[in-house]
Amino acid sequence: MLVGVIGYQGDVSEHIEMLHRLRDEYKREVSPVKIKSLKDLNKISALIIPGGESTTIYKLIKEYGLYRNIIKRARLGMPVMGTCAGIIILSRSTGDSMVMGMNLLNISIERNAYGRQINSFRDYLNIKNIGRFEGVFIRAPVIDHVGDGVDILATYEGSPVMVRSGKILGLTFHPELTNSTLIHDYFLSFVEGEGYISSRNREWYVRDVI
Ligand code: GLN
Repeated sequence: MLVGVIGYQGDVSEHIEMLHRLRDEYKREVSPVKIKSLKDLNKISALIIPGGESTTIYKLIKEYGLYRNIIKRARLGMPVMGTCAGIIILSRSTGDSMVMGMNLLNISIERNAYGRQINSFRDYLNIKNIGRFEGVFIRAPVIDHVGDGVDILATYEGSPVMVRSGKILGLTFHPELTNSTLIHDYFLSFVEGEGYISSRNREWYVRDVI
């Protein structure tokens, strides 16, 4: 399966590396591809919008004509995962006219709500269907409202940090900056069949992470 990563700015190579690891170490049938144009978008089965600077990624997605097409493909069932800047772009409202959310996740979100770069942090989360996972938060947004149709998969200090609505997954942290491929594995299950995490990955996870 071809999995796209929006390729203009941010943690693009880190997401691609995660997908390569799932292919090479866990024998997942996955080929990552950088997405910069409509032509690239049309051939993929799932899409990742990386962390980075949401205003820049948003501007370029619009400029290259991807914005409406991502919404259209997602509504037709293409799985999409957004991490940090990515979840901002997927949300219903950002409270910031520099980034108009796609309304693929019925949440409102506040950019940079923990403060500046210096207020970035790591801490362990307990994620539904996945378990213990290290959350890496870098100038992270805060989800301030969760509407109908959205499941909360993890919280941190009482606030949702990972949510899901059908095949749309949003995280305010960066799984691509950890050693664990579990969240990417979980995301690929949205294409292949519900709830599947490759057993090799789970064994690795239990051995090395917990
Ligand atoms: N604060 C950034 C923004 O609003 C997101 C930070 C990130 O993706 N690490 O774009």
